[in-house]
Amino acid sequence: MKKILLGISVFLLNCGSDNNPVDAIYDVSVYRAYVESVKKSVPAIRELNFTVPVKAGFMERSDLAKEFVTFPRRYANMTVMMKQLGFLPDSVQSIEPYVAENQSGFHAAYYITGTDSLVVIDPQEYPVSQFKEIVAHELTHALQDQNFNISQDDLFPNRHYSSFCTDFYLARRCVAEGDAMTSEFRYVISENSLSASPLDLFSTWRDEFFKTFGTREIPVYLNLVSMFPYEVGSYFVSKIWSTKGWEGVNQLYYSNRPLSTAEIITGEKFEPHRFDYSSLIKNWYDSCQSVQIADDDNYGPVMLLALLKDYTDATHAEAALGWQGDRVLYLLADNAQWGKFVWSFQFKDVSSAKYCMQGIDAVLSARTLGNVAPQRLQVVADSLITYTTGAVATTLLRDGEALFWIENVSDPTNVASGIQNASLAKRSGASYLQIESDPEIVEMKKRMIKRKELGERLQFSQCCQSGGDI
Ligand SMILES: [Zn+2]
Repeated sequence: MKKILLGISVFLLNCGSDNNPVDAIYDVSVYRAYVESVKKSVPAIRELNFTVPVKAGFMERSDLAKEFVTFPRRYANMTVMMKQLGFLPDSVQSIEPYVAENQSGFHAAYYITGTDSLVVIDPQEYPVSQFKEIVAHELTHALQDQNFNISQDDLFPNRHYSSFCTDFYLARRCVAEGDAMTSEFRYVISENSLSASPLDLFSTWRDEFFKTFGTREIPVYLNLVSMFPYEVGSYFVSKIWSTKGWEGVNQLYYSNRPLSTAEIITGEKFEPHRFDYSSLIKNWYDSCQSVQIADDDNYGPVMLLALLKDYTDATHAEAALGWQGDRVLYLLADNAQWGKFVWSFQFKDVSSAKYCMQGIDAVLSARTLGNVAPQRLQVVADSLITYTTGAVATTLLRDGEALFWIENVSDPTNVASGIQNASLAKRSGASYLQIESDPEIVEMKKRMIKRKELGERLQFSQCCQSGGDI
């Protein structure tokens, strides 16, 4: 999947390439011939070979939108959760239109994992050179899939992915997208006999990300999580490529695998601190009858950047805010209006913990829930603040380098110390397992299976009709 590579497109326009938009009604065989020509170039550029022939199909964006059905109850619950966690303004009625737009409006093309098939959306919208560039990107994903099997879990998310996904998952996407962007750039360079460095271009993208992350459209977290693999991941990968070549990039899938987006941001090897929530999860599930939504993970430092967007700056952001690890367990149950959660953070030093505590304090002081403003009480300077927002009770607690944001949970101080003292560092992923019986989750899984079937159908039938039923 990819966002259109605007940087390179501008670059191409300046170089006078064949930017002649084609007619709206297009001849599929012409586009298939373009795909075949790109297929000949990409293996040499990426220094990997296809192990299975790759098929290509085309579809209209309106048909893509139909694939993303809505799950009203789930979106309603997500809206509550994201408001409580400080990512959605109280005034936003539902997160649904933002997610829908993000899903159906974002991509120029996508690769269907495990099916050796790629789909370009509305190919007639692109100049031929840009169409080929998009295909080069998606073909690189095919090479990754066939040579590294990196996306084996993507079609059927398993217990390791919460519904919120993980920092590790996002770091892995940074490698896959950064790899595809570097390959795409190399393809453009090669096609046009130019000399340019992917590192130079992606370095400006990275700088731009850290300059503008606070001003992205609402909800900011959705934009940051979507764009981060392209805007920051591309720099991370191209830097490795420029010093160690493609072999160095290949190692990012195995022996040199980044475990966190903190490593993508800072470039330094990183082992995230992991919090043990196993007893918490069990107690919470045992104490409720019906789970509306549960989540026990997030996108790590990128999510914290989104949360503190109005508070922090590029310098702190480029140091990943001193983040060393975090985990949030959120549970909305038994038709309650608001959920309860424990969000634990570990920082590299006390000053980072204090800095982020002030940031979260700013978020909480400005957060209204159901039009109710909070009452704030500073209990202990630099380490304990409480907030009462209607019926919602919040505690922000710092202990050394650790920070805890606890909401609607009794005895928060004890809960925090229990988590801090736990020795187990394993992620249980229990929340995903618990909500598997949710009818909307069952429906989502069916859709994923259908998507895989569609990919296989594409592969076998070579269905390439404009607006066809892929
Ligand atoms: Zn991609």
